[in-house]
Amino acid sequence: MNKDIATPARTKEIMQKYGFSFKKSLGQNFLIDPNILQNIVGHAGLTKEHGAIEIGPGIGALTEHLARASKKVVAFEIDQRLLPILDDTLSPYDNIHIRHSDVLKADVRQMMEAEFADIKDIMVVANLPYYVTTPIILKLLMEDLPIKGLVVMLQKEVADRIAAKPGTKNYGSLSIAIQYYTEASTVMIVPKTVFIPQPNVDSAVIKLVKREKPPVEVTDEDFFFTVTRSSFAQRRKTILNNLTSQLPDGKAKKEDILKALEQAGIEPQRRGESLSIPEFADLANALYPYFS
Ligand code: SAM
Repeated sequence: MNKDIATPARTKEIMQKYGFSFKKSLGQNFLIDPNILQNIVGHAGLTKEHGAIEIGPGIGALTEHLARASKKVVAFEIDQRLLPILDDTLSPYDNIHIRHSDVLKADVRQMMEAEFADIKDIMVVANLPYYVTTPIILKLLMEDLPIKGLVVMLQKEVADRIAAKPGTKNYGSLSIAIQYYTEASTVMIVPKTVFIPQPNVDSAVIKLVKREKPPVEVTDEDFFFTVTRSSFAQRRKTILNNLTSQLPDGKAKKEDILKALEQAGIEPQRRGESLSIPEFADLANALYPYFS
């Protein structure tokens, strides 16, 4: 087996060899603990039949573990300066393709058709750049890509919001959006000390297993998400007040919103954080005729 990239000594050696300096604006916090990487890959349940998609390989710390555990890895890296480094550090592996692009602008579906034609089970595994964690996760889920799920490192605070249950302070429209598409759980809490440079916040690894179908039936997905976002616009406000002030003007009157709440069996004085996902689905479906 090749020497791990993710040890403090080897990482420093690579950085020095290439005169590489971290760009904070790109969320560059590299992992320097092979045990953590091993655990992340373990939670992804990869086998030699699996494909893996990585976002932000950095100098290849996680990428090489993915290459050892899976059939093929495709990694999107935005920072051109890392390309020659990755060419060097990952040269022992022949099952890795690096794509120089911003994952938020990339056509991931087309990439998957081109790169994973012969692979059925594909996982996204990444130590995400923290400045764009939610846009990346939401993009990958909303595009309904043929992936099994995601195992990703992100800020603990965002992980807490993603996996939150109704009635808790972290529960909000992000929890609902992600839990609509996946079963979400936090699988590891990670200390700051396993990164260079150390981030300012604690980290966590979450596992998102894509559902075969959503847990609720909604008439219109976009409208369902508009209703959930509106319901949390001001957390201390009642659901009635949030919906009245947030939903598009000039379409439905307060009386219509009251009627829809009654139809869905939801007290107008409740707060968004107390509603379960099925309750939000009933509410959005009852409101939809007034807004379509
Ligand atoms: N995987 C490496 C590790 O664990 O040590 C690096 C992780 S670092 C937290 C995030 C990486 O994502 C950096 O390499 C950064 O350049 C890259 N990155 C930042 N924004 C990106 C984007 N929009 N698309 C693709 N890669 C991005």
